Amino acid sequence: MNSFDFSFLEEGFTARDILEQKINEVSLSDDKEAFYVADLGDIVKKHIRWLKALPRVTPFYAVKCNDGKAIVKTIANLGAGFDCASKAEVKIIQNIGVQPERIIYANPCKQISEIKYAASCGVEKMTFDSEGELMKVAKNHPNAKLVLRIAADDSKAVCKLSMKFGATLKTSRLLLERAKELNIDVIGVSFHVGSGSRDPQTFVQAISDARCVFDMGAELGFNMHLLDIGGGFPGSKNSMLKFEEVTSVINPALDKYFPASSGVQIIAEPGRYYVASAFKLAVNIIAKKVTLTEQMGYDDEDDASKKTLMYYVNDGIHGSFNLISRSKMEMCIVRKKKSKSDERLYSSSIWGPTCDGQDCIIEQCDLPELHVGDWILFENMGAYTMVASSAFNGFQRPTLYYVMSRAHWKFMPTLQEHGIIPEVPELSDVHVSCVAKNRIELNSIACVV
Ligand SMILES: *Cc1c(COP(=O)(O)O)cnc(C)c1O
Repeated sequence: MNSFDFSFLEEGFTARDILEQKINEVSLSDDKEAFYVADLGDIVKKHIRWLKALPRVTPFYAVKCNDGKAIVKTIANLGAGFDCASKAEVKIIQNIGVQPERIIYANPCKQISEIKYAASCGVEKMTFDSEGELMKVAKNHPNAKLVLRIAADDSKAVCKLSMKFGATLKTSRLLLERAKELNIDVIGVSFHVGSGSRDPQTFVQAISDARCVFDMGAELGFNMHLLDIGGGFPGSKNSMLKFEEVTSVINPALDKYFPASSGVQIIAEPGRYYVASAFKLAVNIIAKKVTLTEQMGYDDEDDASKKTLMYYVNDGIHGSFNLISRSKMEMCIVRKKKSKSDERLYSSSIWGPTCDGQDCIIEQCDLPELHVGDWILFENMGAYTMVASSAFNGFQRPTLYYVMSRAHWKFMPTLQEHGIIPEVPELSDVHVSCVAKNRIELNSIACVV
């Protein structure tokens, strides 16, 4: 069965409507599990935006960011390649029919069995940043086409990577010399500026460093022809930088250091860019505590006692909130009761369901008073969420509902550049499990913490 398990969004409906419908469906029952609604059409939109903003750069989606089957199938259909970093990720991608040429094994430190596995299934492009790795590859995968990962200045990124990965320029020369002795092919250079980068200039510096390494390679007789500019592209509207702010800096740098005439193929490894904004998560308030703190000596008599509220919800840091930055969450509240416009806000905290005292999603935010059974929606929950969740304390991952509009669905196959994906389901094959019919009105307020 070639089915993608998703539902079509009828015209005029959004993923948010489906989410509200799901909430409505369970409003009278006690079965209020946390769930996701993911809009695959949002990924299609992101891809189109990528092609426009970075016409010279082929995306190789970083699977670790979100390895949902519908996600990787959608991205494969769009013609992108994949950045895999483990045997299991290579399997996921090969199982959906992607050819090994469209995979880069972008992990500079691999277990020998993984290098052998890559060799056995034809994955040749792999990154390295040390002499030890060169020797392992020379022995276990002599046909590999290696990509030298260089360190990028990630001092301005939220998630830094250069302590762990990447060779300096000086080491790069030594590694290229060693590769020559070992008779291994080095076809290019990669870097990663770090996730949540705040300064697009880091891309410029890294691209110029890559140029130096290409020149060293040429001196040593390598025919380097692949530049991999890594990940770190913003994935949601409220990121510190807009995607186009980053690409408008990258494009001139590429044209300067790697003009089209150089014949160098340019790829990137976007993760969060493709999936962050496609997912919304709805969690339910399962318990609530109110603390009253006496305030002495204030002139405002109405405020004599201050209320602090604690909400316990059914997903937390051992689940979807494990890896993501919880400092800038975007939330909406869906409540049973109507809100008044002059509503009071209370200092509140939001906790996960486990018995771990650290399981706190938001330590402090101002919210109107909520009740057990109300829902809190978190936006931009597609990147590093589901993939990092555990079943600690017996709490399972939220259910996932995928949706896509027909317009986006039709758009996908026409975007195929490589034409290799065999599993393009016929429309009749597609499982339609929920279609929104009636719009429902829920009381929601947006609140950025
Ligand atoms: C995690 C990772 C990515 C994706 O990073 P994003 O910030 O999500 O774009 C790309 N390449 C490598 C090597 C990675 O480790």
